[in-house]
Amino acid sequence: MAVLEHISSQEAMALENKYGAQNYHPLPVVLSRGEGVFVWDVEGKKYYDFLSAYSSVNQGHCHPKIVSALNEQAGTLALTSRAFYNDMLGRYEKFATQYFGYDKLLPINTGAEAVETAIKLCRKWAYEVKGIDLNKAKIVVCKNNFHGRTTTIISFSNDPVARKNFGPYTEGFIKVEYDNLKELEETFMAHDDIAGFLVEPIQGEAGVYVPSEDYLIKAKALCEQYNVLFIADEVQTGIARTGRLLASCGNCSCPKRDCSGTPDVKPDILVLGKALSGGMYPVSAVLSTNEIMNVIQPGNHGSTFGGNPLAAAVAISALEVVRDEELALNAERLGKLFRKHMNAYIEESKIVRLVRGKGLLNAIVINDDEESDTAWNICLRLRDNGLLAKPTHGNIIRFAPPLVMTDHELEECVSIITSTLKEFEA
Ligand SMILES: *Cc1c(COP(=O)(O)O)cnc(C)c1O
Repeated sequence: MAVLEHISSQEAMALENKYGAQNYHPLPVVLSRGEGVFVWDVEGKKYYDFLSAYSSVNQGHCHPKIVSALNEQAGTLALTSRAFYNDMLGRYEKFATQYFGYDKLLPINTGAEAVETAIKLCRKWAYEVKGIDLNKAKIVVCKNNFHGRTTTIISFSNDPVARKNFGPYTEGFIKVEYDNLKELEETFMAHDDIAGFLVEPIQGEAGVYVPSEDYLIKAKALCEQYNVLFIADEVQTGIARTGRLLASCGNCSCPKRDCSGTPDVKPDILVLGKALSGGMYPVSAVLSTNEIMNVIQPGNHGSTFGGNPLAAAVAISALEVVRDEELALNAERLGKLFRKHMNAYIEESKIVRLVRGKGLLNAIVINDDEESDTAWNICLRLRDNGLLAKPTHGNIIRFAPPLVMTDHELEECVSIITSTLKEFEA
């Protein structure tokens, strides 16, 4: 079959249903093209993308600079494996460590792999530096976390759909309530074999839960007090999404950003993925200090594709776009505008309970229970009206457009969203 042969939406969906594993429940829309904040379906209908592939496409679809970096490198050298050096990886590692303010980077491909890497790194540090007894190290995680779908990661999830019938589970994790410093401190006090605290600066999949202002900074202080590594999973919140380069922020090179007066946390281990490549290619990374990263020796960890020259070229370009187009500032300004408009709508609304978020990572909570299909039906109607979003956890709709949006486009999107919601007001 010719790759470019046209197929209809119905045909494309039927093919996936017949020949694909049914591990997703997609909104019925079949996309075939993207540019900036827009995507088009196979029938040519244009939509605003308000998911951005779960915050991967922060730089906008098919950003010309990233496409050109990809094309140029693809035609030069794509993959060597780490059996040999390549002339792009070191350049990327220098660029990215300076960009985020760390000593060393470990390159890998997907978000889940990067979380797995951080877990291994933390455990090895626990035995070799902190001196925890062999195989006793614990990592504290938060309830309702989302860190990916591998066997170890689902072992410390509390989502029954992600866990059920996938046991036996990996040991060594303790769950605490998110945004609860008292429980965190009690847990640190009760165990002397804790190696790390793994946390999302905002819980994205859980429904965009923004913790209290001082949560991260105080959690980090507790980690320092108890010699526990603070591991930030910024796979979704990172790369300008929440109006700062990182949602935890830190000693980074945020352009023209004045962080004074706001909580400033520098994770011991930083986990990145998704928009690290502008959604162009699977690129993820773990960043840390020399002291921590040096516990990793040849053979301890690896991936055939991790650190390939194509990934390196794409990631440099994607990070340059974030810096040069000041996407953090754009996300912060547009996020405020979005929540202002949504809050004004909610004052008069029966169907929407609240809006929450930071920068352009936002969600509305539908005034209904988790089992109802109202949020799904709203997303179908949004699709009909030219905007794509997806419910998370039944009654929550996440809104996360590409960060390259203009004020005018955002105003148009707000009017699509509010006029669609009006159709559902009783
Ligand atoms: C998406 C996500 C992951 C997993 O990334 P994949 O590339 O899908 O494996 C991990 N952590 C967070 C916070 C995420 O949002």
